[in-house]
Amino acid sequence: MLQPLRCFTCGAPLGHLWKPFMDRVSAGEDPEKVLDELGVKRYCCRRMLFTAVTYIDKVALFDSPRTRELRVKLYSVPSKGVGGEI
Ligand SMILES: [Zn+2]
Repeated sequence: MLQPLRCFTCGAPLGHLWKPFMDRVSAGEDPEKVLDELGVKRYCCRRMLFTAVTYIDKVALFDSPRTRELRVKLYSVPSKGVGGEI
């Protein structure tokens, strides 16, 4: 759901590599080359970045009135989701 923060297998921190990896791959670069250049050598860590699917943005559209109320209260962020009313 969220981007990987650490490798599940070896525990290496990966959160700082997510955005550069996704930006470059989205721009059309080869994922293998990008991982090599970012210094991700172990295949367990490569798997984490290469196979992660983030869908928090889609799930967040369908929040409940209670979670919306808490989000506004805690973070002062109003809901802008299209599916906000449940
Ligand atoms: Zn790893």
